[in-house]
Amino acid sequence: MAAQSHQFHQPDLFQDQVAPGHSLQLKFAVSSMVIIALVLLILNTYPLIASQELVFKTKQTALQNEASVVSGNLSGLETLTSERVDRIMEVLGESNLDRVLVTDPEGMVLYDSTGEAEPGQYALLQEVVLALEGNDVFQSTFQSSVFRSSAASPIVYRNSTIGAVYLYEYDSEQGLLLTGLQNNLVRISAVVCVLSLLTSILLSVSMTSRLNSLLSAIRILREGEYSHRISIEGKDELAVLAGEFNRLTQRLEETDQVQRRFISDASHELKTPLAGIQLLSDSILQSEEMDPETMRDFVSDIGKEAARLNRITEHLLALSRMDNGRVVLHEPVRLEKTVEDVLRMLEPLADSRGITFEVEVQENCIVLGGEDDLYQVLFNLVENAIKYNLPAGLVRIILGKEESRVFLRVEDTGIGIPESEREKIFDRFYRVDKARSREAGGTGLGLSIVRDTVHLHGGWIGVGPRAGGGTWFQATFPAPEREVPAE
Ligand code: ADP
Repeated sequence: MAAQSHQFHQPDLFQDQVAPGHSLQLKFAVSSMVIIALVLLILNTYPLIASQELVFKTKQTALQNEASVVSGNLSGLETLTSERVDRIMEVLGESNLDRVLVTDPEGMVLYDSTGEAEPGQYALLQEVVLALEGNDVFQSTFQSSVFRSSAASPIVYRNSTIGAVYLYEYDSEQGLLLTGLQNNLVRISAVVCVLSLLTSILLSVSMTSRLNSLLSAIRILREGEYSHRISIEGKDELAVLAGEFNRLTQRLEETDQVQRRFISDASHELKTPLAGIQLLSDSILQSEEMDPETMRDFVSDIGKEAARLNRITEHLLALSRMDNGRVVLHEPVRLEKTVEDVLRMLEPLADSRGITFEVEVQENCIVLGGEDDLYQVLFNLVENAIKYNLPAGLVRIILGKEESRVFLRVEDTGIGIPESEREKIFDRFYRVDKARSREAGGTGLGLSIVRDTVHLHGGWIGVGPRAGGGTWFQATFPAPEREVPAE
């Protein structure tokens, strides 16, 4: 054992590795970064485009209204002259616009609020040309934080175009507001980006380290080190997984210990009779003048040890078959007959010790199972009741039915089992009194077989002290749901 244990932590060269580019951490980081980038892109474009549209719309309404006010006032004149237009513009009062221009039907300037174009010059503006063709024109651009908007309308007198009005506005106030908003969004985006990058790095580093500790624990476990446990902080899925892993390893450790103990117990049990046989045969071989009487005693002892070996191996085989999930028969077994068969078989043993049987049997106690298995259960219980009885003692066998159960109870007036030992007597090779068991030909496996067989039949077994001294064992089985005929 010790020679093997130092191999546990050897690194395994053939362990699975995460394929490059397939790590969860990478997938996690890339997908969250893509989502964040998309969100930021939308955050940085949509509100700006929407606000620009809104400003364009307001400007269009305002400028076109103003253009129609001016052109409406001028359209009362039959022909437009610089003086007439000047007068009307004076009446209309000071405008907020940056430029108001009025032309005649040929596009010649009659009025320019900026004084840029002298009266008599042609207004070389696309909007004016379009307005003179009878169209209401509006256009606006947003560049370098400034909205530049212009509108033009024809001036109509009795269905004929007598001129055009052109308005122009240079708005840096709203432009600056919008640029400020844009800058703020960029700043917020940068902060969000840095924060989310940091959180995703922190999260993925902590997740990877926890996953790695789980992974290395699994590898240690695979190497056979069942005592290894992981401690993962928190209450999330990984912590739950770690808890489950620890319970699994604990279970494996217990099973491993039971198995090791069983192997060492079994070898020990087999060694004792073998050593006896060897000793006896050596004695026979070495003593030259052994009298036939002694020789016969020795050979008879060898026979006894061989029989003991046989019993142990038979019991071990029975247990190993049950461990390997042996199929249990499901035929109706009439337990009255089983009681009868067992008592007939054990009568000579009971007689030899002056022990009396008392039997209380209810009729029609039927259990679904294997006849041989149920025989073995009762045989072991009654045999123990005889073996661990006092001279001239009593063994009582009660078979009965209550509700949906059938019970088989064996009581004896024997040496009893101390309370602290009652749990352990079903363990393999466990004996309360080793010498007495061995002397009585016991293997320490009988009750293990009884318990496993009863469980395989869907039943359970109990043990307790009999009032007035001795022990009771009771195996309880589920009764068949329907009445079944048994042979
Ligand atoms: P064994 O082959 O030693 O009888 P079992 O598994 O049948 O092995 O029983 C285990 C131990 O339980 C026995 O060694 C004995 O100490 C105790 N035992 C079993 N049945 C009785 C009983 N009826 N009265 C007292 N002790 C008992």
